[in-house]
Formats: sequence, structure tokens, C-alpha cells
Amino acid sequence: MTNITDQKLNQIWLETTDDLKSLIGEKSFKTWLSRLGVIEFNDGILKLSAPSNFIRDNVLSRFSDMIVKVMNSYGCAVKSLHIDIYDNNNPEVTAKSERDDEFKSISVLDKRFTFENFVVGKPNEFAYAASLRVAESEIPSFNPLFLYGGVGLGKTHLMHSIAWHVMKTHPKKKVIYISAEKFMYLFIKSLRFKDTVSFKEMFRNVDVLMIDDVQFIGGKDTTQEEFFHTFNDLVDNNRQVVLSADKSPSNLEGVEDRLKSRLGWGLVADVHPTTYELRLGILQSKAKMYKIKIPEEVLEFLAMKITSNIRELEGALNRIVAHVTLVGRPITISVAQEVLSDLLRSNERIITIEIIQKRVCEFYSVKLSDLNSSKRPKELATARQIAMYLCKELTTKSLPDIGRSFGGRDHTTVLHSVRKVKENIQKDPAFATDLEILMKSFTN
Ligand code: ADP
Ligand code: MG
Repeated sequence: MTNITDQKLNQIWLETTDDLKSLIGEKSFKTWLSRLGVIEFNDGILKLSAPSNFIRDNVLSRFSDMIVKVMNSYGCAVKSLHIDIYDNNNPEVTAKSERDDEFKSISVLDKRFTFENFVVGKPNEFAYAASLRVAESEIPSFNPLFLYGGVGLGKTHLMHSIAWHVMKTHPKKKVIYISAEKFMYLFIKSLRFKDTVSFKEMFRNVDVLMIDDVQFIGGKDTTQEEFFHTFNDLVDNNRQVVLSADKSPSNLEGVEDRLKSRLGWGLVADVHPTTYELRLGILQSKAKMYKIKIPEEVLEFLAMKITSNIRELEGALNRIVAHVTLVGRPITISVAQEVLSDLLRSNERIITIEIIQKRVCEFYSVKLSDLNSSKRPKELATARQIAMYLCKELTTKSLPDIGRSFGGRDHTTVLHSVRKVKENIQKDPAFATDLEILMKSFTN
């Protein structure tokens, strides 16, 4: 490629600067390259902007080869590099650089957030299908598509996936992804500089507009007003709009009623909290990306214990991998327990010994007072063993702690119960199924 669109150029430049940062280190990057802007790429000439002659000269003498190489690796065949100085005497360069800055921050897309990398399960299959349909449609099918659900469940991932897909299949289409906060910031800035016309222009010619986390729009009347108009214009002109929020349109706080109802006109798709299966699936798919092998039982352990959201789940996996790579120990459940003790504790909040006891009693129709008594008929003994086993598996309580909570039993009794249950899981499929159902009732 010797000529490319502005959008593509910005994207390549972003990736290039990312790579350069890893190549020369954060510190040098900050000193020399962080304030460079990309202006244009024409006939093999890449034009950048720098804040001073000093920086320009240094960049040219020390980093130009590297910049050219990295740009080439992204298919941008740079033959020579020019750097202009942006200062107030050169308004054109300055304006362009500022616009690029703005543009960068509105269209930064994470390259890992693609449909291919999205693991589909019951909780997100509807949102996934709706997003894929929107990405594949020539004419907007559901307008707007409104994705909602709790934090860290994949809304942003789906939006970026739509953007990547559209940009790949229709390079000419203009796609904008922006956070609602940034949208508001730009709007307020345009009001201050009395330049709402160019603000509107920026969004008017877009084919697909995605605004993430629109719950932040609530409360600001003028921004809501502008948002409403931008939104109507786009939908009326058959441009696709995709929005996300942590709540459904009707539950958005501080949003005018007419806007709420307008937002719900298209398709509203929610992302549900994760299930054990989905968490495990995601871990398995992420684990494949690492060079080291992570035992299945460790993945199962994580899927069981880290139930809050997918972001934390990924964080847990990364931490284990980093730890193991640095320390060079094999990955086991107890290593995971140690490395993630704080995370496990915060995820544990939800499952306590008392909750487990109560649930097991319901499941086996026995009385809580009996469970913690010294009575030993078979039914009761089984329920008690299972409850102890679950406490061991689902909480980070020690064996003595667990024993104490079961009418002051010894830790060896708990250990015996845990072993017994493990044996039964192997021997008795019906027992294993029941236990699985019980287990799921805690972790889903
Ligand atoms: P949200 O925007 O809903 O708060 P994100 O889209 O930022 O959540 O997702 C949080 C993290 O979890 C991201 O790194 C994302 O890639 C990952 N993630 C979420 N859902 C999935 C999924 N179904 N498959 C793979 N990764 C996922
Ligand atoms: Mg998000």
C-alpha cells in the first residue's frame, strides 16, 4: 500500500507506536516518540508532526529506521519519513495533529476484541448473535442495537468486534467507536469553542456509530439533547447505531423519557452473568494463547472460584502465568490459591459456610440443627460430608475452621469427608450428578 485512508493510517500508527514502546522501552518512548502525531501518508512519504526541532532531529537520527520498519510490517510501505513541527505559526499542522489526537481517542480498538476471540455461551449467545447480525448487515437491521449488562461481561468486546468486522469487510465505511464520556467531553468542548458545527460533522458522515457506557450521559441536559439529535439524524439516514450500558434503556437514571423510549426502539440485548461452563470455556480459549501449559484442573478451579466477571477471570489467569514464568514453579491448584489469595477472598464473599450448609440441607431435606449435631444416620452423614466437601472446595476456610462450623468437629473428620466424597464421585455417577447440580447452584 502506498496510499491509505486516514482511518487506516491512524490505526496503523497506533499499532506502530505500541510496538515502538515495547522496542525502546517506556522511558525513551515517552521522551522521544509519545508526542509525535501522524499527518498523512502519500506516495510512500509518511508525514509526522513533532513539538520541537530538537525532538524532530533526534527522532530522525535515532528512530527513523525503526519507525519505517514497523510501519512496513503493518503493510504501510514507507519510503521516506518527513517530520513537520507543529507550532502556532503552522496552524494547519497543529490543527491536523489535534484532530488526529481526538480521532485516536475515539477510535482506539483493542485488536484482541474480535468475534473470533469471543467465547459464546448461554449467558451471551443472544447479544453475540445480535452483534454479529449487525456487523454483517448491509442495511441496519436493528437500529439501534442496545447491549446491556454488568461490568466485565463482554459488551465492549462485542462492540469492538462489530467495528473490526465492518472495517474488514467494508474498508470504505466510516466507523466510530467512542465512550459516552468522551462523547460528552467533545461536545462540551465544542460548545466552549463555539464549534458545534464540526462536532456534528464528525458524527454526521459516519456509517456505524458506537457509543459505549451511555449510562454516563444521564443528567447532562444539553448533551442529552445533542445526543438525541445526533442519534435521530443517524437512524433516520439509515446509519447503524450501537449502544451499550450497564442497565436497560428504561432503567437508565437521569435520562429523559423520550430518549429512553427512543433507545429501546431497535433491539435490546442483555448479557447475563457468567455460568461455570462459560467461564471454563473462556479460560480454556485464553490458556491456548500461552506458551506454557496450564493444567485443566487449575482452569476448573479458577472457573469455580472467580465468579465476579470475565475481566477478573482473565486477570487471575495472567497473574498465574506471570508468576509461574518468573518463579518457574509448575502450576498447581495450591500455587493458584497462593498467588490469587486476595482475589479469591473477594470472590468468596458470596459463598460462606452458612450458605453452603443451608443449601445442602434444603437439597437433602435435612434440618440444619441435625447437620451440626452428632447424629449419624446415613442420610445425614452423607449430607454432612457433602457440605464439608463443598466448604473445602468453594471457600478458602481451613479444615479446622470448617470442622468448628459443623458442631465442633475435628479437622481430620473434615479431611475424611472430603476424601469420601471424592471417592463417591468416582464410583457413583448418580451421586456425581447430584453433587454437580449442587455445586452449580453456588457458582452460577
Ligand atoms: P464490559 O464492557 O461488559 O465491561 P469487556 O467487554 O471489557 O466488558 O470485557 C472484559 C474482558 O473480558 C475483556 O478482556 C474481554 O475480552 C473479556 N471477555 C468478555 N466476554 C468474553 C467472551 N465471551 N469471550 C472471551 N473474552 C471475553
Ligand atoms: Mg465496557
